[in-house]
Amino acid sequence: MRLSKADRETLKNLPYPSYLRTKFWKSVREMAIARAGSACQLCNNKTRLQVHHRTYENRGYEDKHLGDLTVLCRTCHQKFHQPLKTAIKKPKVKRRVQARKPQ
Ligand SMILES: [Zn+2]
Ligand SMILES: [Zn+2]
Repeated sequence: MRLSKADRETLKNLPYPSYLRTKFWKSVREMAIARAGSACQLCNNKTRLQVHHRTYENRGYEDKHLGDLTVLCRTCHQKFHQPLKTAIKKPKVKRRVQARKPQ
């Protein structure tokens, strides 16, 4: 894809929802899906495909870093993000440790 560095930097700094609406992302998305054989890389489902970023480090440059993207169906994508959400809600552990400390 022929884009100037300035164009790519603009893409990189767009708010993520706007980024997902760019022509650039749409073509990268198609490239990633074609590369995955137009199927979910986990369950082989061929409908409702979404493209998951393993890292956002190369945002705006994904055409050169297609390995950063994983093609998942909607169901797998949701499952994939669920453990992350529960992992964030874990300040409990700290509190328990403090409570057990003798004064
Ligand atoms: Zn799937
Ligand atoms: Zn994702």
